[in-house]
Amino acid sequence: MRKLSNKINWIKPTNEKFDYTNFSKQKRSIVFAQLCFIGAISALIQGAYDLRDGLPVVMAIDVFIAAILFLGFYLNYKGKSHFAKLLIFISINISLFLFAAIVPKGAGIYFLFFPLIIFYFVSYGYEQRIYAFSFTFLSLILNGILLITDFQPLGSINLHPSSLSTSFMINILLSFILMSLGILFTINLNHIGEQLLIKKHAETETLTKEVQHKNQSLEKTNKELDRFVYSTSHDLKSPLASILGLLNLAKLEKDPVSKSIAQYLDMMEERVNNLSGFINDILDYSRNARKEIELSNVNISELVNEVFLTNRFLINADKIDLNAQIEINEVLLLDKTRVFRVLHNLISNAIKYSDLTKNKPCVTVSAKIEHNKLVIVVRDNGIGIADEHKDKVFEMFFRGTEMADGSGLGLYIAQEMVLKMDGAMEFESKIYEGSIFTVKIPLAKKVA
Ligand code: ADP
Repeated sequence: MRKLSNKINWIKPTNEKFDYTNFSKQKRSIVFAQLCFIGAISALIQGAYDLRDGLPVVMAIDVFIAAILFLGFYLNYKGKSHFAKLLIFISINISLFLFAAIVPKGAGIYFLFFPLIIFYFVSYGYEQRIYAFSFTFLSLILNGILLITDFQPLGSINLHPSSLSTSFMINILLSFILMSLGILFTINLNHIGEQLLIKKHAETETLTKEVQHKNQSLEKTNKELDRFVYSTSHDLKSPLASILGLLNLAKLEKDPVSKSIAQYLDMMEERVNNLSGFINDILDYSRNARKEIELSNVNISELVNEVFLTNRFLINADKIDLNAQIEINEVLLLDKTRVFRVLHNLISNAIKYSDLTKNKPCVTVSAKIEHNKLVIVVRDNGIGIADEHKDKVFEMFFRGTEMADGSGLGLYIAQEMVLKMDGAMEFESKIYEGSIFTVKIPLAKKVA
């Protein structure tokens, strides 16, 4: 890994995250530049020898190759590596072809086409392999022409048999060395890629294990917390019920109690009722989170009436006109407890936040089936919800008004329950005019 990071630092001395694609692109570009430079210098040296040997045409080709290679190096340096590669590979193919055509076949110049083919693949990565294949095709065609025909557009030169065999040996050796270097580069690049993959895989495995472990402990903590909330709330219920009982007893006492004590008793009863409501809300929340859906046959008309009855003791409930418009005659398969609780929270809110200054304060509950969904609408002409509160009413513990006592949990729990039943809840409201809450719950199947 240290070796890998050294290589990475050599090419990318920044703290950025290592990017293999970028890295291999840069590596290819660097190798291409090195090839151009070394090739250009070699061509110039070769040109000097050819001049000395009295071969001006060959020397001209050498100088031309050197110039093209320097240009390629410069273009690559300027970031125009694609253009540089096209220029270099086309020119080198032409030059090598002409060169090999002038010199007798025995010199083995055509061998140099093979390392060239390797360098196409070194210079063009996987994504640009089409160029590598196209150039390979070009080189093979040119090589074929050289070997099969006697094509000599620039004439021919004669070499002494001894220098012919030396040239042959040098060209074979050079081709072999260049091919080996090209293959070595590709192997090296692959090796770095593999090491990187192994490292990434190990990192991912460690991360997955860590996440799994954290998830398990989170789940455990969540369950413990749930159990704690549930059992604490549950345990608080019975002493509260006893206090309520004792308060009632105290109120029934025959001995006359002073007016202020009677008032205190009423206040205590109210506070205890509030606390009891709050604990019931928490228990509802906890039950909803823990309990799975339990389907049973539900008669919506009866259910709405039941909710009306449980709310009849709310303050001012007697001054409000409660209506039900149920357009469902059949029995539906629903999670009764949850639907009851949702309706209860919506209807009790409609009563709590009613506007008694209105001519006819009323709450209307309508229910129908639409697209295999139970659609319940709770409409009131109460105080309405201010625009600035509209996106907060479903939040936990949000209370928009002090007008009535509440935990700020009612709508949150109703929403959670609706979501648990795969349903949706929305509302419209206009301040001082009233609110309309709509609940849609998908129906599992109808029961006759
Ligand atoms: P709570 O009623 O316990 O305060 P809820 O979660 O049930 O909590 O409601 C949050 C807030 O949304 C209420 O405090 C109230 O401001 C507003 N609200 C809910 N229902 C109505 C309604 N029908 N009409 C007017 N305001 C409402």
